[in-house]
Amino acid sequence: MKKIGILGSTGSIGTQTLEIVRHFRDEIQVVALAAGSNAALLEEQIREFCPRAAALWEETAAHELRERVRDLDVKILCGMDGLLEIAAMEDMEALVTAVVGMIGVRPTLEAISHGKDILLANKETLVTAGHLLMPLAREKGVSILPVDSEHSAVFQSLNGEKKNRIKKILLTASGGPFRGKKQSELEGMKAEDALRHPNWSMGRKITIDSATLVNKGLEVMEAKWLFDVSLSQIQVVVQPQSIVHSMVEYADGSVIAQLGLPDMKLPIQYALFYPDRRPMEMPSLDFYKLSQITFEKPDTETFQGLALAFEAMEAGGSMPTVYNAANEKAVSLFLKHRISFLQIPELIGDCMSRHRVIAHPDLEQILETERWTYETIAGRGI
Ligand code: NDP
Ligand code: MG
Repeated sequence: MKKIGILGSTGSIGTQTLEIVRHFRDEIQVVALAAGSNAALLEEQIREFCPRAAALWEETAAHELRERVRDLDVKILCGMDGLLEIAAMEDMEALVTAVVGMIGVRPTLEAISHGKDILLANKETLVTAGHLLMPLAREKGVSILPVDSEHSAVFQSLNGEKKNRIKKILLTASGGPFRGKKQSELEGMKAEDALRHPNWSMGRKITIDSATLVNKGLEVMEAKWLFDVSLSQIQVVVQPQSIVHSMVEYADGSVIAQLGLPDMKLPIQYALFYPDRRPMEMPSLDFYKLSQITFEKPDTETFQGLALAFEAMEAGGSMPTVYNAANEKAVSLFLKHRISFLQIPELIGDCMSRHRVIAHPDLEQILETERWTYETIAGRGI
């Protein structure tokens, strides 16, 4: 029996993870669940999966949850202390990190330091603290298994190959809902337009990130940390049908790719059972019906969020944290209709240009950089 915890169990990745667990109840046991404020859904999940502990970030919601599950033998926790207690739970073997944003940094580091394998969806953590997380994982002998579809595809394409024979990682991108549009057309785009992704159904923040191509920028950094390659070895390729999930080119010119329907349950299940492949109730990819698989170069002039990610990673140190934190803030302002679509990359670029890089930031300095970025944006009166 594999014992897992899920941070972000009420979200898009969290609920899909639980859908898979439902099919493998005699093999996977959920020992802990955590979410932000959704007490009603977390109660349902607790009643169905019977974890020993559950946490909500918001205190009032945690209080409400405690009342709701008074009849059950489950410990209800709250806030960062709650996430950290779950991350360190003794009988948990693996933690699915499916919270959204940098809030995942501390619990993920805590889980690794307690020897838990990480099934990583929460890319923001790797982007901002990859330099702390990856060495710690190596030291503790912990596996970081990618859940993100592109990284799962790369991971699968690396099976049995020698790492020093990788020439290039070809990270595919759908291009998002605004592919093919120019700056002038993007100016008036509203949250409702950006939330209409052509191929994937995901949480709100990552859907906006897909529209700006910031998601791909974060994924470039995620790939660099996960696969220990240089930035020049990562190339982004637009693949509008989202069928080729990513590829690896080797020294001899061979390119190995992973293909599949765009469904996150596939990479989640692969990470849960790695290195095994279990059956999945899903239609086969029908190559007769699939009329075409096309590729394009990304338009980094229009979608500056992607170009800025390469700059942030090249600058290194605390700069990726600025890139990420500015984006998190900007996306939340955009979703509240307080800034325009094009102000998202503009705010990221502005914060980056004002930041003095800390070369090797420790955890405290990363969190301080996050605060500095938020204050810098607030200082502009937005
Ligand atoms: P969602 O917004 O759907 O879900 C976020 C989850 O995190 C919810 O359970 C939410 O709880 C919880 N949460 C939010 N804030 C806190 C907090 N402070 N403390 C504890 N829990 C919190 O996001 P997604 O599932 O779309 O994305 C999760 C992560 O996975 C992101 O990093 C994203 O980039 C990555 N990812 C997502 C993919 C997808 O298909 N969705 C694909 C690849 C990567 P509540 O419901 O109570 O607010
Ligand atoms: Mg992805």
